[in-house]
Amino acid sequence: MQVPAQVEYERAVSVGHALTLLARYGPRAAVLAGGHSLIPMMKLRLAQPETLIDINALSELRYVEVADGELRVGALARHADLLESAVVGERFAILHDAEQVIADPVVRNWGTVGGSLCQSDPSEDLSAAFAALKATLVITGPDGTRTVPARRFHTGPYETVVAPGELLTEIRVPASPGGGSAYAKVCRRAGDWPLAAAGAMLAVDGGTIVEAGIGLTAVGSRHFCASEAEEHLSGAPATPERLAEAGRIAAQHCRPVSDQRGPASYKRHLAGELTVRALRRALLRARAGER
Ligand SMILES: Cc1cc2nc3c(=O)[nH]c(=O)nc-3n(C[C@H](O)[C@H](O)[C@H](O)COP(=O)(O)OP(=O)(O)OC[C@H]3O[C@@H](n4cnc5c(N)ncnc54)[C@H](O)[C@@H]3O)c2cc1C
Repeated sequence: MQVPAQVEYERAVSVGHALTLLARYGPRAAVLAGGHSLIPMMKLRLAQPETLIDINALSELRYVEVADGELRVGALARHADLLESAVVGERFAILHDAEQVIADPVVRNWGTVGGSLCQSDPSEDLSAAFAALKATLVITGPDGTRTVPARRFHTGPYETVVAPGELLTEIRVPASPGGGSAYAKVCRRAGDWPLAAAGAMLAVDGGTIVEAGIGLTAVGSRHFCASEAEEHLSGAPATPERLAEAGRIAAQHCRPVSDQRGPASYKRHLAGELTVRALRRALLRARAGER
């Protein structure tokens, strides 16, 4: 049985306390949220922090609410909090779609939104969903807070712009008037990581697409988004042909790799097909006044 190396443990009781502890222990400290990714990485010795700063007592970071016209999600909100949120189901359906197919109830009850984004796994689902929604992430450190677009948050596999001593504290999603959104994923077994998945957000005015957001995961897309396909849609007529062409463009520009989940050619095919499915559903929702 694999066990992690010996590690010191501190339990933070507030954001300020967590920042003090992070400053005290330096870059060899790691934030512990749900632990569903960090603890397995420690067991494999892929992560070897000297100190764990447990943030699970920070109830101030556990919320899902709409304020000033935008969705605000605290970094410690659990997957289940997003899934069970009525406002998310009604107005940010892409997040509801995504959460239904992330892992299983055990993981969703304890894994956090912030931990998922900070883990920066190249197959992570919420990173693609928040990229499609053009979310902004709030990072808090010793010098105060700064905001970063979700599309600039990940700097590579398992790497983000969160510096040692900082915490991701909030995710903000702008409400898009006339918008609809959806998420589509293919995995080998229910609750598994995706072979490929796509999220889409469309804002329409009459028959015209006024704004498009497309997120992709597990297929090597830079910053989890398909900007070339988005450009093809913005300001264009919302026709089936246009959506199909956007799918082709998304597939063309991603860079999947072959692995135990499937060959690169199949993943590229899925990227295009799932993009079109998510776009179609987002459009239906936009027209039905759902989101
Ligand atoms: C069996 C299983 C199946 C899964 N299936 C899927 C799936 O299908 N799709 C999917 O997307 N995910 C899946 N996951 C991952 C799951 O979503 C985890 O919850 C997620 O990867 C990490 O969240 P966590 O809260 O457990 O973070 P942790 O493991 O506690 O932390 C992950 C990393 O983020 C850092 N961190 C955490 N919170 C913060 C913060 N607020 N500020 C700064 N750094 C922070 C930690 O230091 C660590 O480096 C699966 C996990 C398991 C165990």
